Amino acid sequence: MPTTPHTAPDRHALLAAHLTHLALCRRCPLMHPPVITPLPVLGRVYLVGQAPGPREGALGRPFAWTAGRTLFRWFDSIGVDEQRFRHHAYIAAVCRCFPGKTRHGGDRVPNRIEIQNCSRWMADELALLQPQLVILVGRLAIAQFLPAAPLEATIGRLHRGAAFGYAVDCLPLPHPSGASTWWRREPGARLLTEALACLAGQPAWQELQALPRTSP
Ligand code: SF4
Repeated sequence: MPTTPHTAPDRHALLAAHLTHLALCRRCPLMHPPVITPLPVLGRVYLVGQAPGPREGALGRPFAWTAGRTLFRWFDSIGVDEQRFRHHAYIAAVCRCFPGKTRHGGDRVPNRIEIQNCSRWMADELALLQPQLVILVGRLAIAQFLPAAPLEATIGRLHRGAAFGYAVDCLPLPHPSGASTWWRREPGARLLTEALACLAGQPAWQELQALPRTSP
């Protein structure tokens, strides 16, 4: 991926090519295709989730099921609804394919090699998009950009983080999955409220609020 500045049409073409290649990726033998890709958004806000669940493949978009409903309810509460977010923010993930189920029935957490395999897509996206703000959703996403620490010491404020040589402001959030109870009880509930208030105050978030609900 080039590192020199590009004009907007160049960047649109590069992003379209990137997403085409990403959709064809089959590097990880344990992962379940399809690769879940977002809208081709040259946004200043870049969101990193963990990995898609079992429903996103059929629905064809990230955060399409229950965790997404919760996440977009949080965003709606601070002035950006789902449609506006999807059309103006880039939605990435640590891994872009459904990892499958564990024998206990939960979603398998991607392994170290899968995370490494998929990291090249994120590295290319950061180089191309150069986001102003990265929203990190859940522990696995947080771990890609910030030093290891308990959620209680991480959620609720803005951090300066870095990944693949790209330094950026990072706003960590807990994972909105129904399986997670962290943000439903204290201190998680209070820290989530503080995190959303911090997000609402970010210039890149306020720019999202001012944009039309759909891209032109
Ligand atoms: S998880 Fe990422 S690297 Fe692995 S097959 Fe899917 S898109 Fe490719």
